[in-house]
Formats: sequence, C-alpha cells, structure tokens
Amino acid sequence: MIEFRDVHKYYGDYHALRGISGSIRAGEFFSLLGPSGCGKTTLLRTIAGFEGIDSGAVLIDAKDMAKVPANERPTNMVFQSYAIFPHMSVGENVGFGLRRDPRSKAEKAKAVEEALEMVGLKGYGARAAHALSGGQRQRVALARALILKPKVLLLDEPLSALDKKMREHMQVELIKLQRQVGITFVLVTHDQEEALVMSDRIAVMFEGEIAQLADPETLYRRPNSKKVADFIGTMNFIPAQVIGEQGGQIEVEAKGLGRALLNADQCPAGQGDAPMVGLRPETLTLMYPGQTTTERTVDGIIDEVIYFGDMTYYDVYLGGTDVEVRLSMRNTPGRPILDVGTSVDVAWSPSALVLFR
Ligand code: ATP
Repeated sequence: MIEFRDVHKYYGDYHALRGISGSIRAGEFFSLLGPSGCGKTTLLRTIAGFEGIDSGAVLIDAKDMAKVPANERPTNMVFQSYAIFPHMSVGENVGFGLRRDPRSKAEKAKAVEEALEMVGLKGYGARAAHALSGGQRQRVALARALILKPKVLLLDEPLSALDKKMREHMQVELIKLQRQVGITFVLVTHDQEEALVMSDRIAVMFEGEIAQLADPETLYRRPNSKKVADFIGTMNFIPAQVIGEQGGQIEVEAKGLGRALLNADQCPAGQGDAPMVGLRPETLTLMYPGQTTTERTVDGIIDEVIYFGDMTYYDVYLGGTDVEVRLSMRNTPGRPILDVGTSVDVAWSPSALVLFR
C-alpha cells in the first residue's frame, strides 16, 4: 500500500530522515514508534504530502507521490490536537470535509450519521462540539477523517491527550474500528505498550532511521539490537563470550548462567559491541521449595524485592551478575513473596536468550 524507497529529508542542515526503506501492507495497523525527535511525525507527513522529501521515493498503491499534492492523495490525517471547531455542532464538524461534495444535503446527512455510528457516537450529531469530553472529541476527529473514505488513515499521537483509562479504552476502540473499516492505519506513537497492543507491525525508529520493522512478538522476543531491546520493555543484559559456532548455531557462555546453544534467529547481525546476552525478566522464574522445572536452573540470592500488586520484581544475584526477575501472581498463586537474602534457584530457558555483539 505504501512504500518508502531510501527516503531522505533535511530541515536546513538537519538530516531528519536518513534513508528510510520499507513498506506498509494494505489493511494493516502499522505503527511508527520511537523516542521524541526520531522523525516519526516527519515520516507520517511525507505519506500525507504535507512534507516534501529531498531524495528517494514515497509510493502509495505503487504510484510515486512526488508530484501528487496532499489533497489528491488517498490519505487522511487525524492530528494530536484534534482541531475540532468548537462553535459547530458534532454533525457539522464531521460533515465539514464534505462541504464541496456535490451530493445532496440528505445524502451528506446520512454519511455523517454513518460516520458517527462507526465511532460509537450515533445520535450525537446535534450536540455542541465544545461540550464533548476528550474521548468524544477524539471520536469526532476520527469520524471526520473516515467520512472521506480514505484508503489510508494517518494518526499522529491521537490518544496522547487522553488520561490513561480513556487512552486504553480508545486503543481497543481503534483496533475494532480498524478491523471494521478494513483500511490501512498508520499510527505515530512514542508509547511502546500502545504500539505493541495495537499494531500488526511496527517500525522502531531512532535518529531518522528504522532500526527494526517487525510484528510485536518479534520485536519483543527477537529484538535486533540492544537499543531496540531496551526501548521495547525491559531486558537483562548479561556479559557473555562466544565459544564457537556449529551448523548455524552459536554457543555462548553467559556470566552467572553458563553455556547455551543459540539458533541463528537468536543472534541478530553484529553491531561490533562486546557480546551480551539479553533475557527478558518475565522469562525467568524463581523456584519455590518443592517446585520442579524442565528448564535450566542456577543458584541465586535475592537482593531486592519490589511489589507491584499483580507482579513482583526481584533482583537476584547470580554469581557475578544481577538479573531482574518478574513474577506474576497468576503463575505463583498462593505463594508468598520471597524475602531479601533468600537463596533461590532461578529457572531460565536458552530459547529466551538473544545474543548481541
Ligand atoms: P515527537 O514525538 O517529539 O513529535 P518525532 O519523532 O515525531 O518527535 P519529528 O517531529 O518528525 O520527530 O522531528 C524530527 C526532527 O526534525 C526533530 O529533531 C525536529 O526538531 C526536527 N524538525 C521537525 N520539523 C521541523 C521543521 N519544520 N523545521 C526544522 N526542524 C524540524
């Protein structure tokens, strides 16, 4: 649906997009995720045509967009500041985009009602826009974009102004809406959880480049660099040594854990760093007395305990290295929180390791 071919963009001397390549499939929920200033809004704006590029190409539906102005592109954008006209009714706001549409008044009114129904605001047409809640305004902005039947809906941090609860609610609503209308959604967000929850695929961006483009599970389980691993959730990094390679597998010795044989997909291309293995805290388990496991175990001593209600975080010293272990209540029902100073077996699985080097 959308293809970037080695896109570069400068703001004066500042190199904002540094060779972006990749594509977004028709009908997918795609997110551009990265820290502030990494260029995600700029990239989104190049799709919309609000921003020109200095070299490379942006294609939509296999057509080069270089000479296609924003208003002729099959895209529509929902902004962070919803840009609702407060002096108009909800219906007038949604119908605003149809002001030059040649259809009859009755047909337009029907389209407005349909768009409002789509976003869960059926019957709200006559209400004053200024009297809406944040979540409702967000829906009006969505309805206003959807009424124009774009092939691609571009969303620039659309939920960032909402409080946590409303944001989580709207995340689910947006996923449902996207499945219902079946068009391509491209979301800009700096919120990792939001991207993981909502997206079919995510492009993680740093400093004007895509660091990794993959589905949420791959980004989480098989990040291709320490930087991506660190940005998406939490990871223990443990110094390691590469012992040898045999038949596509790499043997490593990780401090405190011992040796493990890793498959190629656990060993992304080298970045020239000192070798480290990464292990997500949720993949580690502490063994309670009498508990058995088929996983590997090592002895440790609990250094620190932080209780989070449904989760408990433990820092565990494993001879030479500290790891964080996260246990959920679900997996340890009825078991007590372990005390600082307790000796425990830590269970881990070589398949959960990723090698960075
Ligand atoms: P945020 O999450 O803070 O919005 P972002 O990842 O969306 O960040 P962009 O808005 O794309 O980042 O900006 C990328 C870089 O380009 C930033 O360093 C920004 O300061 C710079 N930049 C953006 N727009 C302009 C502009 N119109 N003129 C000059 N520099 C700009």
